[in-house]
Amino acid sequence: MKKINKPPIDDLQLLNDICSSYRPNIDPYKHNIIVRYNLYEQNFRNLENITSVETFLPIRKDLEESYERSSRFNEERKIILNHYNEQTSGLCLHCMMGKTHQLDHFFPKSEFPEYSIYSPNLIPICGDCNHKKGTVIFTDSERFFWNCYHDDFPDYRFLFFNFTLPPSGTQPKVELNLNFGGDTSEITQIIQRHFEKRRLKEIYLRDVVPGELSMIEGKIHECWKELLLLGIKDKIFDIIMVTLKSECSALMNKYGKNYWKACILEGMIRNAEFLNEFIERIISNDEKNGKKCIANWLEQEQTIINDKEKYGW
Ligand SMILES: [Zn+2]
Repeated sequence: MKKINKPPIDDLQLLNDICSSYRPNIDPYKHNIIVRYNLYEQNFRNLENITSVETFLPIRKDLEESYERSSRFNEERKIILNHYNEQTSGLCLHCMMGKTHQLDHFFPKSEFPEYSIYSPNLIPICGDCNHKKGTVIFTDSERFFWNCYHDDFPDYRFLFFNFTLPPSGTQPKVELNLNFGGDTSEITQIIQRHFEKRRLKEIYLRDVVPGELSMIEGKIHECWKELLLLGIKDKIFDIIMVTLKSECSALMNKYGKNYWKACILEGMIRNAEFLNEFIERIISNDEKNGKKCIANWLEQEQTIINDKEKYGW
């Protein structure tokens, strides 16, 4: 995650154009809308200070439809998404997993219709995040979600994966920790709430770690075949370590120090004992039956779960 530049949109011009060419009903409220835009601007670092007002209820539908249906806003939508994707290579900064193709109203348009077409309030996001974010963004003035236009993210590592390998034949155990090293600033608390509300810990551990381990396994498998041909199979550990380090560093440079994919690699690099054992098991499994080790482990895990359900143990 990283802070990115706001889109190059002239919000007052956009509002004027919508009033004059699409929804004249909005025009008498223009001044009040601009006051609310200014309030947003002044509270960029303290968005929890902004509360909803009833002033715009009579034109709520006009404002919402200006966002949903007007061709004038559609032009801006493309600019906002392109501007964002240029800075993030299309990655959703809300989950760091999906591709960005939708806009999320940081302040929901149902409750804050005046921010329906206000560009700093429109955060590019993936479909899954947009679906799961919901409309509740604060409780007791505590903000749930980070905002990549307004938040200064820590420039140190706080996302850590730790790997251990239990006795032979069982799946690697993975832990995920958020460690801010005693930093209790507002943004670290928002990050923790964001992980909790978006269930990122569970999703990373359940959905992305097995896939990443499987990819690394594929690399080890390919490397092993080449080294056998070259007759230097004892170099496998050093070569895999160098490969993972170089990938980890490239990913951190591109997506930031806390990009989950880079942090998984860093977790493996940090624990050389685990990596060594991981490679050993893949190689010996490869030689025995040629079946993917991770797939094997996942199947075994699944069998245990099924047996638990079947026999109640
Ligand atoms: Zn997302």
